Amino acid sequence: MKHILLVPDGAADTPLPELGGLTPLQAARTPNLDALAAVSTVGSVQVTPLEMYPGSDAANMALLGYNPSEFYTGRGPVEAAAMGITLTQDDIAFRCSLITASSDTLLDYSAGHVTTGEAHELVTIAQQELCSPQQTLYPGISYRHILIWHGGSANVTTHAPHENMGVRLEQIFPKGDKEDELIDFIRRSQALLNDHPINVHRRKAGLEPANTLWPWSPGKTPLMRPFKDVRGCSGALVAAVDVVKGLGQLAGLEVLNVPGATGYFDTDYSAKASYAIVAAKTRDFVWIHVEAPDEAGHAGSASEKVRAIESIDREIVGPLAEHFSGSDWRLMVVPDHMTPVATRKHGYGPVPFLYYDSQRPLHNTDVKFDEAVHGNPMVVIPRGEVLMDLLFA
Ligand SMILES: [Zn+2]
Repeated sequence: MKHILLVPDGAADTPLPELGGLTPLQAARTPNLDALAAVSTVGSVQVTPLEMYPGSDAANMALLGYNPSEFYTGRGPVEAAAMGITLTQDDIAFRCSLITASSDTLLDYSAGHVTTGEAHELVTIAQQELCSPQQTLYPGISYRHILIWHGGSANVTTHAPHENMGVRLEQIFPKGDKEDELIDFIRRSQALLNDHPINVHRRKAGLEPANTLWPWSPGKTPLMRPFKDVRGCSGALVAAVDVVKGLGQLAGLEVLNVPGATGYFDTDYSAKASYAIVAAKTRDFVWIHVEAPDEAGHAGSASEKVRAIESIDREIVGPLAEHFSGSDWRLMVVPDHMTPVATRKHGYGPVPFLYYDSQRPLHNTDVKFDEAVHGNPMVVIPRGEVLMDLLFA
């Protein structure tokens, strides 16, 4: 039996005037998902507990079968895992963003999508000039880096830069254990980086300066039991974004690098399907994660979101259904959260899911995999991690 988990990140939405009152899942032409919905269980699931922020990290952890209330410690350790950084139990991992800020306001969470080359140079200087012997900066891609603080504390409230553009720094400075050291780290990064030649050059070119290091979402490594021990089979992951790859690492999945998988609208959907099909030859579980619908939601683009959903249907769902046709397989399709085009932010509340079992096909009429299911669900699942139990029942 092959088990496939397909996550169209952030695909769930709300009705949109620009789509004639339909949601992107309803407006998109999805013949392959429609055909599956007619023989599947289509239900409504609250993926992340309502008291938690529905971030992709906690939500995808739930979809992989690990209760985020129990296992989620922060985004830092998940992204550290994605970068291959091994933490001891005395290490706290912070996500550390290179951002643009004035002396008092957060201006750009991505420092104008600073190039990886420029970022590496700035982070290397920061390592030498800012870090204590207990602190290590690991340069990542573009504005996304990791700070490991040996003996640091995760008992501090921090704020995600992308949710706080235009907010005064004083309102969003770290609060809690060792806050003074963290605020000092941020302030000293500004003094160090603001007039660095790279930033002088960026300003001249009309680009945002990468002038502030911002540590957030700290945590220890979550102690997740290996997926293989929990489910009795090995698995592989096809994904482009670090936070999802990190979860795959932490669960002991084989994380495949797919050429052309970008985590954006231009991702190579077909390549993801091909890699998943090859991985399924030697493994009984494959998790396919597609970031594009979430990016379309954050961009506020209904048309890009519809296009991303149609591409997933045509280039991933279609080939999977064709490949596994006639064999024993199960498919779970479920977004990790909503990213409504109208708000451009992650939304709380349930999302639709589709569960197909080739050994127990249902015969539905008029059932579609979309948000209308919340009004008349076949099944309501109160917690995301339960879906994995269903997939492996
Ligand atoms: Zn997400």
